Amino acid sequence: MASSKRDKKRMSFILKKDEGEKRRLYKRAAQMRKAAREPEHGPKHRRDWSDADDWDGDNQPDRIQKRRRRGEGSLQDWAERLAVEEVSAPQPSDLAAPEVLEEAVVLTATSAGCRVRFADGAEQECMLPPEIAAFQRSELAVGDRVQVAFGDDAAPATVAQVLPRRSALSRPDSGPGGEYRERVIAANVDVVVIVAAVADPPLRPRLLDRYLIAVEYGGADGAVALTKTDLLAEEAELDDLYAQLSGLVRLGVPVVSTSTVDGRGLDELRALLAGQTAVFVGQSGVGKSSLLNSLDPGLELATQPVGSTHKGRHTTTASTLHELPDDTHIIDTPGIREFGLWEITRPALRGYFHEFDAYAPGCRFTDCSHLHEPDCAVKAAVEQGDVDEARYDGYRRIWETLRP
Ligand code: GDP
Ligand code: ZN
Repeated sequence: MASSKRDKKRMSFILKKDEGEKRRLYKRAAQMRKAAREPEHGPKHRRDWSDADDWDGDNQPDRIQKRRRRGEGSLQDWAERLAVEEVSAPQPSDLAAPEVLEEAVVLTATSAGCRVRFADGAEQECMLPPEIAAFQRSELAVGDRVQVAFGDDAAPATVAQVLPRRSALSRPDSGPGGEYRERVIAANVDVVVIVAAVADPPLRPRLLDRYLIAVEYGGADGAVALTKTDLLAEEAELDDLYAQLSGLVRLGVPVVSTSTVDGRGLDELRALLAGQTAVFVGQSGVGKSSLLNSLDPGLELATQPVGSTHKGRHTTTASTLHELPDDTHIIDTPGIREFGLWEITRPALRGYFHEFDAYAPGCRFTDCSHLHEPDCAVKAAVEQGDVDEARYDGYRRIWETLRP
């Protein structure tokens, strides 16, 4: 069914091109035809005319498919097909086909490019196609799995596709035009470790609430690492801090007390993270880098000089994925002072405070915000001491900051 209509359409794509473009098309078509005749180049990876996803492949009778696979057909035929393909499926860059696609994980990413690691451990710098580069902070994050395209020797490795994420940690960011956009801090993580110091800087339990909402929104588990416990004069002070976090502890969020000075809690944290991909987040100066270095001295992350905490200095400027022993993968992130919530609305917020779950069905109104309505079972539970009052206050404060 070599429809003449389709052939005309193909031809017109070539005729519209200038001489230089035509030469390029024919050269590339010749390379592709040659490659199709050399099956030893690895048919598994080679982009093949017979691939079902390629242009109008599904309309092709088997006969034509087979001809293509063997590299038959005139050069003009190949150039025409190539011209149609380039129009219907624009390529991220001028990669010379055949391209080889290989899956990799993103170790670092900026709009200028990214570094990836393949399954065999090899690392590679990659370019980003313009549509990903333009919105890199949303489109491509550390931890993402990508398909990397290799062209011929002259063409750089390029990210051809970002594979679907199983989880992500995001926060709001302003886009290139100042508009509200999602910024993905890390992708495909099992657990988000919120790092908070017991002192210097002081603990802010309500900041942990905010983080945990973003963690659940993104589909990961949350955990808290309290750092610098050696700064507390007595153990009773730590008990007081745990009491402030009891709302979280009751929800099942693991809280691990650590110190890089006396080594407290490091084994517990290692055990918690074994076999997992984790992202470490927290304000600058809480001891995130020191903690990671203690978990694995091989990391050698830069830390802040003693006495220079929370002066706005950032030792980590970009998120990076590190591989640790025990099949643990950790993404460290720059310090984040405030943590905005991406895409959480007021009605959605109550769903993130799971201590309300048991009581909310008893409210008079099914859409009760648990703030000002009469006969609110959640408020009653707070008054009874059955729902943690500090968490409830946190809920109210976050609610005020959100869009209706
Ligand atoms: P980051 O900005 O979160 O990565 O914090 P750093 O790891 O750079 O640590 C900030 C400061 O806290 C540095 O001066 C560290 O020496 C200090 N620090 C880190 N961990 C501990 C700890 O467990 N105990 C004490 N006393 N100080 C710590
Ligand atoms: Zn209510």
